[in-house]
Amino acid sequence: MRVALVYNHQPQTLAVAQKLEHELLASGIKINADQPNVVISIGGDGTLLSAFHRYLPLIDDVRFIGVHTGHLGFYTDWRDFELAELVKALKQRQPETVSYPLLEVRVKEDHRVRYYTALNEASIKGGYKTLEAEVDIKGQFFENFRGDGLCVSTPTGSTAYSKSLGGAVIHPTLKALQMTEIASLNNRLFRTLSAPVVIPPDQWITLKPKARPDLLLVVDGHRVRHRQISELDFSISKHMIHFDRFKYTHFWNRVRDSFLGQDS
Ligand code: NAP
Ligand code: MN
Repeated sequence: MRVALVYNHQPQTLAVAQKLEHELLASGIKINADQPNVVISIGGDGTLLSAFHRYLPLIDDVRFIGVHTGHLGFYTDWRDFELAELVKALKQRQPETVSYPLLEVRVKEDHRVRYYTALNEASIKGGYKTLEAEVDIKGQFFENFRGDGLCVSTPTGSTAYSKSLGGAVIHPTLKALQMTEIASLNNRLFRTLSAPVVIPPDQWITLKPKARPDLLLVVDGHRVRHRQISELDFSISKHMIHFDRFKYTHFWNRVRDSFLGQDS
């Protein structure tokens, strides 16, 4: 077993990372940042997003584990006081893994095609201009969109930006993508559904921007630069993210604890 640690730079996190590294080494587990098969992220969901993008090239061969040092996270199961238990579980048990769908974005420019993979979502915005785009689903015309932008999210991303945009919370074992609107304009020329759309694995969403100023494409909270985007395809990736699961946290309990509080 080769373990990589990814952590943010908050003092509380650094202390946990140090302690965990010590316990891993003491139990004979090797730390290997270049070719890990287990990636432990320490921090919040944002830290796990960074870990995911860093180890994306190894995605099929790596299992993730999230330790949270802030408030409860969606990708982070373990608390900082459970480190010894975590190391013991890693060492002794053949853990069960759970896998969740990822979003693939194909960006077509005039002379090249680029691919991105998102764990939470990708959103496209017009910058300070409105975004005008034709929206197709599975190769068929669906609507003409005009507004601030559109967001396409994975099931695990449904509790993040997508939820703030009025998207439904989707159970992470469902293989689906959800498109939500960001401030759509509705008039005689542009008419949008004005509701989130959820698509199955054999379908994809295509956006064809009408005017092509420098659009803003944001993947998991990071801007990716593109000029002259002619088309964007959003589909469920062939790859999935794998998590080691030693203990089971009921997804809806996590949703309740995060958004409603313990007593509701
Ligand atoms: P950030 O601005 O630090 O994070 C925004 C918040 O989203 C943080 O509280 C983060 O949790 C939480 N979060 C991230 N993934 C989540 C998930 N799958 N379910 C529930 N909450 C989640 O930026 P960041 O930490 O780099 O995260 C980037 C993400 O922020 C983007 O992918 C996007 O989903 C989200 N975001 C949300 C809005 C919005 O809701 N209006 C706007 C922009 C971005 P931690 O504190 O544990 O990191
Ligand atoms: Mn964050």
